Amino acid sequence: MFGHELILKMGNPLLRQVSKSFTKEEILSEETKELINNMWKIMAEAGGIGLAAPQIGISKQLAVIRLDSESERYENIEDSEEFVIFNPKLEVLDETMQGFWEGCLSVPGLRGYVERPRKLRICYLDEKAEEREIIVEDFLATVFQHELDHLFGFLYVDRLGSIKNLIFENEISDIPQEKVLD
Ligand code: ZN
Repeated sequence: MFGHELILKMGNPLLRQVSKSFTKEEILSEETKELINNMWKIMAEAGGIGLAAPQIGISKQLAVIRLDSESERYENIEDSEEFVIFNPKLEVLDETMQGFWEGCLSVPGLRGYVERPRKLRICYLDEKAEEREIIVEDFLATVFQHELDHLFGFLYVDRLGSIKNLIFENEISDIPQEKVLD
């Protein structure tokens, strides 16, 4: 079975659950190491820039994120480091809203223009179960909020200002920079 076929699609009730947090022992287990490796593989095969454990049916607070400038799904983005995020907590540092056309491997074929706060502090545990704190801004802030939403049962479509800004990506040759309609 190909990785992308393992990804649950909108409508699956597992995508709507609040995930359980990890203990430090669980984070350091061989089983979790294998899970992280599988998530990177599935994400790469599907051409994504982030993947959350609930998207493959595991209702636990784990997400992986890596922005890739070679991405075919997202243009004009810069490479980022590889983030492995357990048990995240988000704090908004700048409430100014910024919008991007988001896509989701669990909502194939669609894009939606979603506005979210532009700068946040994220506290989480990394794959060594060590506490980390980072500041994310701009597109990376949107990606973090999108992926971490998955851990709490939300999808980007819940965040749409207007359903008019939900479109099939095949219907337009270039994803517009701005929203289509209010
Ligand atoms: Zn998603």
